Amino acid sequence: MHTHILVAEDEPKIAALVADYLGAAGMQVSVVSDGMDVLPAVARLAPAALVLDVMLPHRDGMSICRELRQSSTLPVIMLTARAEEIDRLLGLELGADDYLCKPFSPRELVARVKAVLRRSAPQVAGNGGTPRFEIDEQRMRATVNGQRLDLTPVEYRLLATLLRHPGRVYRRDELLDLVYDDYREISDRTIDSHVKNLRRKIEVALPGQPVIHAVYGIGYRLEID
Ligand code: CA
Repeated sequence: MHTHILVAEDEPKIAALVADYLGAAGMQVSVVSDGMDVLPAVARLAPAALVLDVMLPHRDGMSICRELRQSSTLPVIMLTARAEEIDRLLGLELGADDYLCKPFSPRELVARVKAVLRRSAPQVAGNGGTPRFEIDEQRMRATVNGQRLDLTPVEYRLLATLLRHPGRVYRRDELLDLVYDDYREISDRTIDSHVKNLRRKIEVALPGQPVIHAVYGIGYRLEID
């Protein structure tokens, strides 16, 4: 079965070029040109990756990516017409996996698509080895054993904090301090629920290998071996 890639691009020439190259690389390609059609097409086609132009009619790629990220880890490569826009896009923490600036080489796009597909491929889990966490501070992303964790900013900061000193017990109020910039509507319970979500996401990548442990009445620690 071919890997299905959804391309959201309203410039017909670029869409056709991208479809040609991805097709030649053995992928099945669907194209949508209207921003309003992207999320319904993702739901209908369940593609393996999305190539998403920032400037689309009726709905821009940024808001599409942000909404998608609330419920999906689908790899997204965003296309932008302006190099200087990439910094801004990164700052918005849209959760895209990669960015390409127009005009781009179609070969480069194919290489980037293959790279995000590789990164998102499920790893063989449960081998019982020491999990290997990697933190990308600039992009606020984390992977475990090469598998991307789809974390909220708070979950990312929690994990990055716990990873700084594996084995060390962090008190809840300490975590609150380290993870939040401000204290609106935040309680110890909030930390518990974020930890719970973070654990659940790690559990998907590391079934049967709990790494975050509650220390009764105090807080949490992370153990990786
Ligand atoms: Ca466009």
